[in-house]
Amino acid sequence: MPERTESESRKLLRRLRDSLAMTGGGQDRLDRITHLIADSMGTEVCSIYLFRDAETLELCATQGLNKQAVHKTRMKLGEGLVGRVARSNAPVNTADAPGEKGFRYMPETGEEIYSSFLGVPIQRVGEKLGVLVVQSREARSYSDDEIYALEVVAMVLAEMTELGVFTSDEEGMRALHRQPVMFRGSTGQEGAAEGHVWLHEPRVVVTNPVADDPLLEIERIRGAVGQLRVSIDDLLAAQSLDKDQVQVLEAYRMFANSRGWLRRMEEDIMRGLSAEAAVEKEQSAARARLEQVEDAYLRERLNDLDDLSNRLLRILTGQGKDTGAEMPPDPVLVARNIGPAELLDYGRRLKGVVLEEGSVGSHAAIVARALAIPLVIHAGRITSEALNGDHILVDGDQGIAHLRPEETVARAFRDKIAMQAEAQKRYASLRGLPATTKCGTTVALQMNAGLMADLPSLEGSGAEGVGLFRTELQFLVRNKMPRRAELAALYARVMDAAKGKRVAFRTLDIGSDKVLPYMKPQEEPNPAMGWRAIRVGLDKPGVLRMQVQALIRAANGRPLTLMFPFITELSEFQEARSMVLREIHRERSLGHVVPEPLEIGAMLETPSLAFAPRAFFELTDFVSIGGNDLKQFFFAADRENERVRRRYDTLNLSFLTFLQGIVARCAETGTPLSFCGEDAGRPVEALALAAIGMRGLSMRPASIGPVKALLRRVNLEEARGVIEAARAAGQESARPMLMEWLAQQPTD
Ligand code: PEP
Ligand code: MG
Repeated sequence: MPERTESESRKLLRRLRDSLAMTGGGQDRLDRITHLIADSMGTEVCSIYLFRDAETLELCATQGLNKQAVHKTRMKLGEGLVGRVARSNAPVNTADAPGEKGFRYMPETGEEIYSSFLGVPIQRVGEKLGVLVVQSREARSYSDDEIYALEVVAMVLAEMTELGVFTSDEEGMRALHRQPVMFRGSTGQEGAAEGHVWLHEPRVVVTNPVADDPLLEIERIRGAVGQLRVSIDDLLAAQSLDKDQVQVLEAYRMFANSRGWLRRMEEDIMRGLSAEAAVEKEQSAARARLEQVEDAYLRERLNDLDDLSNRLLRILTGQGKDTGAEMPPDPVLVARNIGPAELLDYGRRLKGVVLEEGSVGSHAAIVARALAIPLVIHAGRITSEALNGDHILVDGDQGIAHLRPEETVARAFRDKIAMQAEAQKRYASLRGLPATTKCGTTVALQMNAGLMADLPSLEGSGAEGVGLFRTELQFLVRNKMPRRAELAALYARVMDAAKGKRVAFRTLDIGSDKVLPYMKPQEEPNPAMGWRAIRVGLDKPGVLRMQVQALIRAANGRPLTLMFPFITELSEFQEARSMVLREIHRERSLGHVVPEPLEIGAMLETPSLAFAPRAFFELTDFVSIGGNDLKQFFFAADRENERVRRRYDTLNLSFLTFLQGIVARCAETGTPLSFCGEDAGRPVEALALAAIGMRGLSMRPASIGPVKALLRRVNLEEARGVIEAARAAGQESARPMLMEWLAQQPTD
């Protein structure tokens, strides 16, 4: 790189910064900048286009084009050469702009006389802010050096935009991080909440993007990269890393030691950027590539580089998790993703959670569900947009987050929350009443739980007991295998809190999406159908046995209900049950009291068990349908896959017919039957399940009120008649006819 260009570039950046330090509004600053850049680069035109909204760019300042066009000329993303730069996140460099494919002539700008065009994106860590353009009459291509110089300038502009340097109250200026933005994601946990943003990992703020002394900045970046390398080596030296963690850290180490990465950042610094701005420039480039790449492996690596850049920024700025910000009293956690243990640490303080990643079955979602905190997942780029303390509305029902909402939206939202609160109050008045239908049938409503924190809901919700206690959460939120005594103490506390109400402890259901951090992960082509749940428990019985012992000790002579997940055939149940009986025998011979009575049940989560020999139904003390899994296997539609998971209706008559078959088989042997998938908590689904004969439903606590209210106002016999009529009419789903019938029912 020629020394001359380097120092020119540095000079320009310094002039830019100095000019920004002068007084004046945002528009003045932009005007001065375009003038400076055109002057320094020897071009006739320099223009700055900024995003007006996510799709529209607006000419915000220009040197050389018609001033009247400022704030008038607009183009859509992808439109014209400017729009192309913005869409592709890459420079466009041409000697003959009017002859270029996609060129769009904007008569008000007077740009037709300029032949050459160079545009580069103004972006900050993947956030598109605008486009910086230079143009000349002379038909020439700009050199790589000039492109690079303009990119460096654009980086400084991006940092300054982020700092709000160009933001003023003047019409037309886009106020960053101030406008309302709606993020449409997916539902992780239903519910609505209003609060203020609390960023799990606040972004690092770069206050000075321009280097005063490049040599000093180079020293800083080398020092920081050195520190980064040491910290990765330390992590790698730590014991108890699993294969995946080692792989990620190895990738980190590779990047941290990559000469190219450091060299590029040093070049950026020699051009005039500060160390922090240089890191962000390379991070932005990586994010831009990430958008183009489809290959999953490469995407992972680019993600690694992104994480690494964040670490480096934290080292350089000393900013980290502790930015000194105070958590608002009504925090809504915003993060790219979060682990279950971290989420549990925040606990019920959180009003809501919004994640960029996550999945319905992820551990974080399970915890959010257990804590009954509204959760929106897949919420676009919310971590780039949200600032600590921003007003936010979380609509878990629709899977939407409104960031900095307009007052009208907030008002409508508050009405919705008020209505829900009103309904909850109505439900509270039903708390002591049974879910008895108009035809006199009583359905036992129970709740699902997984944490000690769930237990207070047992009283508040009016649930008769815990129909499903997911024990794996205790294992998932730790970083090492819990000990038997710890588990026994915990289970005992759960039983104490239940005050004699029945708690059905489901033994460890790991595998599939639930991978214990301290167990060697198995590479499986299709983990949901792989080595999971009882299959692991029978093949490697150590943990299951320990858990059963803990449950027996926790009961300490009290009643105990346990059930095995994912039983697929009779012999699995026989084997698991025998194991429990052996443990009981052993405990007794050790002089411990044993549970009395003891119930041992099976979860029916695969279609095969519905067709098991009669002996299975005779042997098991009860059957609990795990509707989430059963449905995914019945329809062969992955419950984790957004594309297909909502495709098939629970009220599909094939499925209802299948469930009726299970009801009939249980009836033959007098085996108690209940249903504990998510569908049990949806009022219309719950009604259909009750109508076909389920007499026990287990759901999240917040659903008990709505389900009970509906069941109490209908006649189940009639509802069953409607389902039969839908079947006779050859309908695919019973839903339309059931909804029509429901609409005719008196409201109270
Ligand atoms: C189910 O599959 O319906 C169930 C209740 O278990 P989980 O959701 O924990 O797999
Ligand atoms: Mg299941």
